Amino acid sequence: MKLNRLRNWALGLIFLAFIVMYLGVFATSLMPFLFTIGTLMILVSVFIYFRVGAMSMRIPTLECPHCQKKTKVMGIEDGCMYCHGLIRVELDEAGELYAVPRSKTT
Ligand SMILES: [Zn+2]
Repeated sequence: MKLNRLRNWALGLIFLAFIVMYLGVFATSLMPFLFTIGTLMILVSVFIYFRVGAMSMRIPTLECPHCQKKTKVMGIEDGCMYCHGLIRVELDEAGELYAVPRSKTT
């Protein structure tokens, strides 16, 4: 879920970059300035996308205890990508990761 949020953020940044560059069409004096900012924003979001891709390959995929779908879990606690249920990651005796539901009260 955190990864999805990051990806949405990067997507929003791309749209924002296009808006900034589009504004440059009307404010011709600011055009080089706005264009540079727009290009920088696109570069940053491409970098975020790249990082998200690299991270999603590294982080474990666990079965969600709420909806039984495979979801990627970041850190010790995260939400499911599909049902948004809270998950806590535990280690069993064999060193295998598994997901347990996390109650919202604790
Ligand atoms: Zn789920």
